[in-house]
Amino acid sequence: MTELQGERRPAPRRKTVSNSYLHRLQRRHFILFDILPIVGTVAAVGFLAVQPFGLTELALFFSMWLVTGLGITAGYHRLFTHRSYKASTWVYAVLAVAGSMAGQGPVVSWVALHRRHHECSDREGDPHSPNLEGSGVRGRIRGLAHSHILWMRRHDYPNIVHYAPDLLKNPVIMRISRHYHFWVVLGLVIPAAIGGIAHLSWQGAVSGLLWGGFVRMFVLEHIVWAINSFLHMFGTRPYESRENSRNAGVLALATFGESWHNNHHAFPDSASFGLEWYHLDPGYWLIKFLSLVGAAHDVGIPTRERRHSKRRRHRTLSGAQS
Ligand SMILES: [Zn+2]
Ligand SMILES: [Zn+2]
Repeated sequence: MTELQGERRPAPRRKTVSNSYLHRLQRRHFILFDILPIVGTVAAVGFLAVQPFGLTELALFFSMWLVTGLGITAGYHRLFTHRSYKASTWVYAVLAVAGSMAGQGPVVSWVALHRRHHECSDREGDPHSPNLEGSGVRGRIRGLAHSHILWMRRHDYPNIVHYAPDLLKNPVIMRISRHYHFWVVLGLVIPAAIGGIAHLSWQGAVSGLLWGGFVRMFVLEHIVWAINSFLHMFGTRPYESRENSRNAGVLALATFGESWHNNHHAFPDSASFGLEWYHLDPGYWLIKFLSLVGAAHDVGIPTRERRHSKRRRHRTLSGAQS
C-alpha cells in the first residue's frame, strides 16, 4: 500500500456526535414530549371540573399505559436493545409502534442511548448516571435531577452506526423509527377518539386525550426515568456488577419488572429481569406468552450456575458503590 492510500483512510468512527442542530432537536423533544405531559397532567386535574374522572378515563389511562409500557420494556429494551429473545416480524412491528407511542424517542435513538448506558454505566460517557455529580447531599440531589430528567435537555448523541448497526439493517424497524412523530400523535388521537365516542361529546374527547394521552405519558415516563435515577442509587444489590444498579421489588409491578435493575445489569442478555419465581416481572410474562403461542423463541435466561457465580455475599440497602 502506498503512503497516499494510507492517508486516505477514513478517520476512526466517533462513538458520539454533538452539534447545535442535534441539541436544537433534543431541546424541542424535551419540551414537546417531556414538559408537555407535565402541563397536560396539571390540565387533566383542572379539567375534572368539566368532565369527572369515570370508568372511561380509567380504562383509557390503564390500557394505553399497559400497551406503551410493554412496548418499552418487552420491545425497546429487552428485544431491540439487548436482543434477549427472537420474535416474528409482526411482534417486532407491534412492539416498536407501541414503544414509539410512549414518546420516549424513536426506537433507534433509544436503543443507541441505552446501549451506551450499559457500556459506560456510572462512568464518564453514561448519558444518565446519578453518581457523577459529586459526593455529599448536594451532589446526590444534583445527580438524581440530572439522571431523572435534566440530561435529556442536551446530551451527546450516540452514533447509531456504531451502537445500532443491527437495527439500521432492519427495514421494518427503520420505517417505524422514521415515523416516530406519527406514532406519538396516534397514541394521543386514539384515546381522544374513544373518549369522544364513549361520552358523545367534545368534553369526552378532551378528557380521553388528557388521561389516556398526556397523564399516561407523564406516569410512564417518570417510571422509566426512576430506573435511571433512583435505581442507580437506592435499593438492594444481590448481584455483582461493575456499576451501582439496584433492585426494588416493591416497584416491580408498576415498572413491568424493570425495577429488578441490578439483576438486569448483571445479566443484560436475560429476557427475564426477575430471575426468581417469586419476582414479579410483567414484561417477561408477555415474552413467555409470546413464546407459548409460537411468536417468540430463543428466550435468554441465565443458568443457575451463572447466577450463583455472580451472587454477592453481602447485600446493601443503599450507599456508595461497593
Ligand atoms: Zn438495559
Ligand atoms: Zn442502568
